[in-house]
Amino acid sequence: MSDTLFHKIIRREIPADIVYEDEHLIAFRDIAPQAPVHVLFVPKADFATLDDVPEEQALVVGRLATAAAAYARRQGFAGDGYRVVMNCNRDAGQTVFQVHLHLLAGAPLGRFGTAG
Ligand code: 5GP
Repeated sequence: MSDTLFHKIIRREIPADIVYEDEHLIAFRDIAPQAPVHVLFVPKADFATLDDVPEEQALVVGRLATAAAAYARRQGFAGDGYRVVMNCNRDAGQTVFQVHLHLLAGAPLGRFGTAG
């Protein structure tokens, strides 16, 4: 297994506010939230970026999305709405190189980023 920050959270070597876990993935609150709700969904399978996930492993990514949607329903804000984001590599500002999905919610969100 790789040794990113998120792998250390998965192995409980550093603390995190974990809100969900199953055999495939873990979800925990972002340490620097960009919205009232900001949760990261991280697969236990080892892929540095979205670009590293082969088509035959599409479920790894699909599960992140359906787990985020299920969390939103459980927390009661699915109807109000939410955004999911995956940053891939430099121009998107990816900082942790274990693939992950951001769930943002809890207030009306601005339009997503444009260049510049
Ligand atoms: P990225 O920019 O790679 O898409 O997202 C990485 C996210 O990890 C950032 O939103 C950042 O705030 C979050 N993050 C960085 N360090 C930690 C940490 O130690 N704990 C938690 N819970 N989140 C972190």
